[in-house]
Amino acid sequence: MSQELYNDGSHICTVFRDLVTGEGIQANQFLIFDHEHAALIDPGGELTYSRLFVAISNYVNVQRLKYVLVSHQDPDVVSSVNKWLVGTDSKIVVPALWARFIPHLTRSGNLADRVITIPDSGINVPLGHFQLQVLPAHFLHAEGNFSFYDPVSRILFSGDIGANFPPAGFDDSIKKLNDILPYMEGFHHRYMSSNRVCRFWVNMIRTLEVDLIVPQHGRAFVGKQVVSDFLRWLERLECGIDLITQSSYRVPSANA
Ligand code: FE
Repeated sequence: MSQELYNDGSHICTVFRDLVTGEGIQANQFLIFDHEHAALIDPGGELTYSRLFVAISNYVNVQRLKYVLVSHQDPDVVSSVNKWLVGTDSKIVVPALWARFIPHLTRSGNLADRVITIPDSGINVPLGHFQLQVLPAHFLHAEGNFSFYDPVSRILFSGDIGANFPPAGFDDSIKKLNDILPYMEGFHHRYMSSNRVCRFWVNMIRTLEVDLIVPQHGRAFVGKQVVSDFLRWLERLECGIDLITQSSYRVPSANA
């Protein structure tokens, strides 16, 4: 149900992979715990709230959860935010671009002093004895979008970048890029905006020490070799508007 990605006794990163049941898209949720303080990344929607609440109570007094961080505005990321606002004392950390949409997910009054907005340039969020780095990932795919880098575990929580959808039975982690490409390429062609922003993001990530890339969907890229192979693939990827032509913009023909 959950897997610890890193644990040195005082700093723990845990992924929850199978909380979505039924027809919802598979999504990973993440807990980062540091010296008695805890944050959730991309908690998901109605489908995950109750089970995630119970699961993280093994690590933390959930009422005192410090942050719920959301990378962008999609329902599988953010739609449970009202429940976290009501059920815990946590602050909601959300891209500034999407902050004005959050009131649509909750009742008036629930948001007072509860929202921290992330400026386009990113921020560092203090948690326990460390700072979680919130990195710009705009247009990959959302217009206001962020990745999260944990310098203690050296894990990059990459959101939809690197998302993959392998069949049941696929290994828990990705050790060779070619094994996962068939389950990743089509998604990136459609959901990522353009090669230009892929390259900017890759250039930024290469300034960091990354041992593990863990996307919001699918399996993790484990080890420096496959992380480096993934970045090289992404910086060369043509996607989104790179692939669009006039043929994508035609008035549908009339029904027979
Ligand atoms: Fe998304």
